Amino acid sequence: TAPVLTIDGPGGAGKGTISRLIAERQGWHLLDSGALYRLTALAAGRHEVALDDEAALARVAETLDVVFLAEGGEARVLLEGEDASRAIRTEQVGDAASRVAALPAVREALLKRQRDFRQAPGLVADGRDMGTVVFPEAPLKVFLTASAEERARRRHLQLREAGVDASLSSLLKEIQARDARDMQRSVAPLVAADDAVELDTTSLTIPEVVDRLTELLAR
Ligand code: C5P
Repeated sequence: TAPVLTIDGPGGAGKGTISRLIAERQGWHLLDSGALYRLTALAAGRHEVALDDEAALARVAETLDVVFLAEGGEARVLLEGEDASRAIRTEQVGDAASRVAALPAVREALLKRQRDFRQAPGLVADGRDMGTVVFPEAPLKVFLTASAEERARRRHLQLREAGVDASLSSLLKEIQARDARDMQRSVAPLVAADDAVELDTTSLTIPEVVDRLTELLAR
């Protein structure tokens, strides 16, 4: 089977950007597992499925009609044939995603879909439970962290570039609430795998992190 690099950690630690850059550099496939939870939440909203109806949400996850258009700069995702790349990035969908992600039946329903991304020549898997649940046998696991303040600051910059002016303090609160929910849930809580390499990116640049991981992969 193809090699897998798992990159887990809290939101805003840089996993998305780092995973994409490593996948490009290695010529590997990329799994953005957070997008699957976001898409489930978005599809549930569109089909008027309540965010606490576990069985119905699991069916939404199971039957999700999604196409990832990768390679070449921006990754795009189609939900039921329509571009949902922007729609899944709102705070509202992110919040709903972390709620549906706490439901065991939803996680179970997305398991096979995630494992199917493992194809030659290799896979970079970005998420919260890539190294603990989805690919426990991955040869290299990384757990990326950064302080909540730094993650709020990065998110603030990112939003500013997108023309959105959000307050730093409200972003920090949202990040802390999301962390708490991801770490305290009973299924697949956010924790580093025992055999993961932990990397605190608070004072590292993106190229520094990419170099460090490329070095680890070459070992
Ligand atoms: O990483 P992203 O912000 O896109 O993830 C959205 C939400 O999906 C997270 O807050 C988390 O609750 C959930 N998630 C998860 N397991 C993953 C990826 C994301 O529970 N592997």
